[in-house]
Amino acid sequence: MRIAMIGSGYVGLVSGACLADFGHQVTCIDKDAQKISALRAGEIPIFEPGLDQLVVSNVQADRLSFSTELAEPVAAADVVFIAVGTPSRRGDGHADLSYVHAAAREIAQSIKGFTVIVTKSTVPVGTGDEVERIIREENPEADFAVVSNPEFLREGAAIEDFKHPDRIVIGIEDERAREVMTEVYRPLYLNQAPLLFTSRRTSELIKYAANAFLAMKITFINEMADLCENVNANVQDVARGIGLDKRIGPKFLNAGPGYGGSCFPKDTLALVKTAQDYGAPTRLIETTVAINDQRKRAMARKAVLAAGGDIRGKTIGVLGLTFKPNTDDMRDAPSIAIIQGLQDAGATVRAFDPEGMKHARGLINDVVYTSDPYDCAEGVDALVIVTEWNAFRALDFTRLKSIMKAPILIDLRNIYRQEEIARYGFSYTAVGRPGEE
Ligand code: NAD
Repeated sequence: MRIAMIGSGYVGLVSGACLADFGHQVTCIDKDAQKISALRAGEIPIFEPGLDQLVVSNVQADRLSFSTELAEPVAAADVVFIAVGTPSRRGDGHADLSYVHAAAREIAQSIKGFTVIVTKSTVPVGTGDEVERIIREENPEADFAVVSNPEFLREGAAIEDFKHPDRIVIGIEDERAREVMTEVYRPLYLNQAPLLFTSRRTSELIKYAANAFLAMKITFINEMADLCENVNANVQDVARGIGLDKRIGPKFLNAGPGYGGSCFPKDTLALVKTAQDYGAPTRLIETTVAINDQRKRAMARKAVLAAGGDIRGKTIGVLGLTFKPNTDDMRDAPSIAIIQGLQDAGATVRAFDPEGMKHARGLINDVVYTSDPYDCAEGVDALVIVTEWNAFRALDFTRLKSIMKAPILIDLRNIYRQEEIARYGFSYTAVGRPGEE
């Protein structure tokens, strides 16, 4: 199949490269000329494990190419994916659909022959109807079907997720699209990945419902962690105790500094807004959003307390800036609010992240960016682990103790155990594990 992928960010580039790897002929398009020239030169503009090899091998096999212009690839395409950003709209929290609508307008001008237009971006219920309306208005002669096919990949494990999905959700209103989409995903279908066909609106809602549920699960265990701290219980044991129940499941039960990233914060908020607009408020999700917003600042207060209660004039080291490991994505990372909280309390912050510092520099000011965990810990009054990168899982505490001003570790990802840390003379604070402190 000939595929045009509009938008070559985290989702578009991974999806495009994987679809090419399935044997399809794919052109990844982006308005960002720098991104496209980097890709053409064999450089990958984002950090995603395994993506560089996948892109290079498919370019070499002549199945994957890059362009800033969509006219030709769209005219030649059987399927056009829209994978542009849908950030929170400034001011009201609704999803900003301006990039999706602009892409639809441009696509309309270039369609030739029957073409399936697939919205892969996360978009509110009814966006498919609007995309269809825009294309019809721009090009009344066009023969097309608009499909919803939300993406569930996780940054950091994106290729594995795309190639081995739990399910592929496809929302259609035109039966002709069923066959085309089955062909697109044939290799996965043969691997037993369930293809779930629904109506277009249902498919759009599935994506938001999935993200909201996961955000709620994280928030639930975070509240349990706070309760554990007050009743002297251990949240990791609580998580294990409930997670072994198959109806609950063990995943997304790691207590921490609150969810962040490019999806959960904006998608939960957009769902709240959509639900309010349609007169069916989702109170659970409204509360989830509020709890999570407050949590990040609360984590800064937790660090301040652990560091003695007054950190004015002190220096705090922060390990990990991205919202999770194995990505360079800094969008809505909890580190942003936590560092702000530490700075507001009067501290100087030193920070290190294996991949996130390039983007962090544009987002977090007045931070001393360092070259590794030990450089970060040099002379600090306390060290806070915010993201659980593998590089922080086996720190040399003898070395840390010799270079830190005070041996205080605040582990917001629960990656260490109190007894291992105490051996080195460290004071240790975790999340929801008071008995160990
Ligand atoms: P991104 O910001 O990394 O990439 C979007 C790209 O689209 C940018 O490179 C931008 O230059 C380009 N673009 C915008 N308008 C364009 C146009 N008219 N023509 C060509 N290119 C255009 O965003 P992302 O993280 O890949 O997310 C894309 C969508 O996928 C969002 O709706 C997001 O919610 C959803 N999603 C993201 C993830 C994730 O983990 N990042 C997972 C699932 C779903």
